[in-house]
Amino acid sequence: MTGRLVADPASHCPDQAARTVVAAAFAAISSRYVLARHQIAAAILDGNGGIHLGLHVDAMVGRAAVCAEAGALSAARLATSAPLIAVAAVRYPKPTETAQARIVPPCGLCRELLLDHAPALRAVVHDGPEARLAPMADLLPHKYVGTKWPTAPTRS
Ligand SMILES: [Zn+2]
Repeated sequence: MTGRLVADPASHCPDQAARTVVAAAFAAISSRYVLARHQIAAAILDGNGGIHLGLHVDAMVGRAAVCAEAGALSAARLATSAPLIAVAAVRYPKPTETAQARIVPPCGLCRELLLDHAPALRAVVHDGPEARLAPMADLLPHKYVGTKWPTAPTRS
């Protein structure tokens, strides 16, 4: 907890599922923010109403960093095999920035990762002043398709 009064971006979400994941991600990063170490948290909503959180873990070597969405996906898959329906990531402001947390779209790597594991997932993105849920497939129209997996996850 930083002690700053930072605005919750969930107020920008007219959709209930979007508001739920944004509020959860905002609460998580508000309590775990550490400058240059943990700046973003993500929340994934599953089809049973469960919320799964992830925390961005930065690293001295940039490519060793782990995105919050990857952490949330891992937590979700540990907890349930239910479909994953919505994801949001919220970036907490640095002390030198305006006290407004921001909804951030998934990076390209996370778009690939999330689509591999949750093809029906929608992500909260900002379009002007309001946020909306966008199908992940719309955010990555020409996704990489490899040959090492069957088309759907199996437990074999
Ligand atoms: Zn990412």
